[in-house]
Amino acid sequence: MTTEQLYQIFLKHPVISTDTRKIAPGSLFFALKGDKFDANTFAEQAVSAGVAYAIIDNAAYRLGEQYILVDDVLTTLQDLARYHRRQLTIPVIGLTGTNGKTTTKELINAVLSQHFNTYATQGNLNNHIGVPLTILSINATHEAAVIEMGANHQKEIGFLCTISQPTHGLITNVGKAHLEGFGGVEGVKKGKGELYDYLAGDEQRVAFVNCDDTVLMEMQHGRDLKQVVHYGKNEPGSLVSGQIIANSPFLTLQWTNRKTGDIYDVKTLLTGEYNLPNILAAICIGLYFKLTPAEINAGIGGYQPKNNRSQITQTATNTLICDYYNANPSSMFVAIENLGKLDAKHKVLVLGDMFEMGDESAAEHKAVIRKALETEVNQRIFIGGEFFKAGESMDHGPWSIDKFYHTVEQAIAALKDEPIKDSTVLIKGSRGMALERLVDLF
Ligand code: ATP
Ligand code: MG
Repeated sequence: MTTEQLYQIFLKHPVISTDTRKIAPGSLFFALKGDKFDANTFAEQAVSAGVAYAIIDNAAYRLGEQYILVDDVLTTLQDLARYHRRQLTIPVIGLTGTNGKTTTKELINAVLSQHFNTYATQGNLNNHIGVPLTILSINATHEAAVIEMGANHQKEIGFLCTISQPTHGLITNVGKAHLEGFGGVEGVKKGKGELYDYLAGDEQRVAFVNCDDTVLMEMQHGRDLKQVVHYGKNEPGSLVSGQIIANSPFLTLQWTNRKTGDIYDVKTLLTGEYNLPNILAAICIGLYFKLTPAEINAGIGGYQPKNNRSQITQTATNTLICDYYNANPSSMFVAIENLGKLDAKHKVLVLGDMFEMGDESAAEHKAVIRKALETEVNQRIFIGGEFFKAGESMDHGPWSIDKFYHTVEQAIAALKDEPIKDSTVLIKGSRGMALERLVDLF
């Protein structure tokens, strides 16, 4: 079956299912393969649950006319998404970067949805499956789309761009994450830069670039980008600049429309100076698409972070900054700095190991410990084998307010013995550490 033929079927059945636990009746079931499963084996179950067709790549499971046999289900899904994307004439804003993609995507969507019927990546569906599923969810009623693209190795962003085909693109920043897969920071730069590469050379495509970020500016200058819109203060033509006027722990900021000189204040539900560029990116895109300052501020001010991406929670005894959705050296540094600067009485750092650090792991865990030591807080708790090893090997005086635990279980036992009270607590670590297990103890 050609992509065009499958597309005709998709037009009649424009909902995709990939999980038999969440089958939408009348949808198309794509039997994808995971590490531990082969969904060809679930195709019959999907058909019984009422899907219109099951797309499979193993002839042994073709049990009738409702089964469409293809060479490779994943490639078929990606090709279908690419084909669907070509039919769309709306602006598609593609985002990548090391940190803050989901937050910035949500902020841009919060702003643009004040004025347009938008579609944005759901949650963190930003990979070779999530991006095609996102594209296939865009329908004729949508007026703009915001697509998050993630990567942990070279060529991934370039490939995802062939599916999402962004008309507008933004790299949030380039930092230290997935160093293993990318081959160091230079590798991350190259890998994320594939978004600029996709936009380059085309008169119609627009890049939004943070002109205060020297790495992004260097990356911009190395490419033939035809339309660049800056945000930040370091370029005369930039659309918007901003500054923080309070961070306690919620951010209030003042932003300037640099074309008119008008200044606006906005109170947010976000914490951390590191969110300033994320917010400015969303304001910039709002201004670019001609939204009013009131619409922009309604979008920014109303956005509540979700899924423990720097989410602030008040418990009976403590204020928690729950930031254990993910962690890498760059985001660790800025989150630690933020706690240090907060105007709070008693501050506690709870840091869990960073994953996927490859050869740099020992050095990067030491660097985070050093950063934590030079930050004024009342207590520091490091959890995980990597932090433990790094701490042991470091030449440091008495660890008076610092504790190291090999495992989360050990930390739980210790926190039960000596509970933390009346404190502002930053909890941050990689997803694999599952630091949410600690939260009830605060
Ligand atoms: P993922 O790669 O998991 O999709 P992401 O890039 O989508 O991550 P977010 O989920 O938006 O990132 O944010 C995760 C955490 O990254 C935040 O809670 C915060 O600690 C940190 N972070 C957010 N924005 C920035 C930034 N501009 N610079 C550094 N760190 C940031
Ligand atoms: Mg994300």
